[in-house]
Amino acid sequence: MSISSATGWPAISVADAYARLTAAGSPFETALRPVRGQLLKTWAKGPQTMRDVLGRVREHGDRTFIVLEDERVSYGDFHKAVAQLAAAFVEMGVEPGDRVAVTMRNLPEWPVTVCAAIAIGAIATPLNAWWSREELVYGLKDSGAKVAIFDPERLERVAGDLAGLPDLDHVMVARGEGAAPLETLIGPVAGWASLPDADLPPIDALGAEMDPDSAATLFYTSGTTGKPKGAVGSHRAFTSNILTQQFVAARAFLRRGETMPARPANAPQRATLLAVPLFHVTGFSAILTPLMFNGDKLVLMRRFDAGQALALIERERISTAGGVPAIAWQLVDHPDREKYDLSSLERVAYGGAPCPPELSRRVREVWPHAAPSAGWGMTETCAVFANNTAEDYLAKPDSCGPPTPLGEWKVMRPDGTEAPTGEVGELWVRGCTVAIEYWNNPAATEETFGGGWLKTGDLARLDEEGFAYIVDRAKDMLIRGGENIYCIEVENLLAEHPAVDEAALIGLPHRTLGEEPGAIVRLREGGAADEAELRAFVASRLAGFKVPVRVFFAGEPLPRNANGKLIKAELRERFAQSEPA
Ligand code: ADP
Repeated sequence: MSISSATGWPAISVADAYARLTAAGSPFETALRPVRGQLLKTWAKGPQTMRDVLGRVREHGDRTFIVLEDERVSYGDFHKAVAQLAAAFVEMGVEPGDRVAVTMRNLPEWPVTVCAAIAIGAIATPLNAWWSREELVYGLKDSGAKVAIFDPERLERVAGDLAGLPDLDHVMVARGEGAAPLETLIGPVAGWASLPDADLPPIDALGAEMDPDSAATLFYTSGTTGKPKGAVGSHRAFTSNILTQQFVAARAFLRRGETMPARPANAPQRATLLAVPLFHVTGFSAILTPLMFNGDKLVLMRRFDAGQALALIERERISTAGGVPAIAWQLVDHPDREKYDLSSLERVAYGGAPCPPELSRRVREVWPHAAPSAGWGMTETCAVFANNTAEDYLAKPDSCGPPTPLGEWKVMRPDGTEAPTGEVGELWVRGCTVAIEYWNNPAATEETFGGGWLKTGDLARLDEEGFAYIVDRAKDMLIRGGENIYCIEVENLLAEHPAVDEAALIGLPHRTLGEEPGAIVRLREGGAADEAELRAFVASRLAGFKVPVRVFFAGEPLPRNANGKLIKAELRERFAQSEPA
């Protein structure tokens, strides 16, 4: 490790840095608390519920919070809209534990509706805005949402189905028609400034205090059974990301033998360009939550375009960009990159998919002033469980770092014993930020969370310092950009096509997106369908990102093992590099 000999780094071991930073009296002090039957480490201080976060939001007053094209929302005005909407939810009969589904692109109304729901004890249920009609209806039905709030495009997609959802009492639309306008309750975004500066409705009805370990969010993730599963996250799970982010920065300073300097009061406001959707835990828990607690600026885009993103970094003096590796690649690779003043960038942070070591080198080369940082997490860990940054990332560019002080992990062998350091096996994790359960699905909950450890389905090895290297996935899934595709869902659908006998989905390597879905299909005797037809068939039922970019036709039965399971490795070997049939 050349860095340590050249500069004396590291000044302190990872274990000692953790011990120092989490000791009594430190801002990052940890405390053992009973969480769902286990004694788990929590942050002893700092925000623990949405109410704590919103209290800070209100204090940020006139600072700019959200920018979307020419709309600008201050923290104070955002808080007014949240308080107003929270009161309206109570008036409408929304009770603690009720699900409030939010389905829209990244608009300022997204955090308003989500924060208002969580602040009154309801469970915010953000649905994937790229989902098809069928997938959205499934999410609304499975969650049993009492209230659903859409943007016009999403409402149009499901309008004809809403009457058939027995639990759904209230449907609202932001910026459109066809349901009760959200603006009737809180006015248009430009009018939030003139709303009264009201307190949040009292929480008496929720019990004397809001329990940090009670349910706050329901984020859907695809499942190995083919149907999406809702992972229930607690207040503690998403609010923990606030101190976790500061801890990771402090850890980098301490490893250098320095103390993290306090940010001067007159320092320019930090700003994050949000290029990933708010409806995943990366957007909501890892980015939005710490950002709004800290009073930073959030710059939204109607849709991601790398050229526009570069212009926005210059215009809004963005300090943090990234989200997922695919976004970071597009920024560093863009032909116009040098035309912009990108000197404000301090951090290029990404996770949620394999992070190629080459990407960290590119970021460093292109923006020496912007530290690359890679995180590992899942919907089921409510975002950042581990993070690698600064010199540690330089020294171990293929690792996603050690877990945060709130998390523990181990690598398991197939026989259920723990693997020694360095051996590859399934990564199991445990901690207070892990999801409470899968909504309404005790069998899946037991399978994944049973025994107090979350079985991640990722294959990893650990080194002697506790850093993890994710080497593969045991679960049959691929990640296109940042979106997960569970193969079984697409395979089952293809098999419903009358001409298809068997279908398999594999990942086709893609430099910036990581992988793209490719299907291998064997047609029935006498069946006829071409690539375009099968792609259109998938597109008619599933989100666009799940549609195979290529369909290969196999002339013989697909390879299977003795249990009848498809041998994906063999299929990848044969098809992943070849041209379409
Ligand atoms: P997220 O919203 O964080 O992407 P998902 O539940 O959609 O959460 O995806 C989680 C999966 O993404 C992990 O189980 C793992 O397979 C993959 N993943 C996340 N972070 C990394 C990383 N740093 N390196 C490799 N794979 C990762």
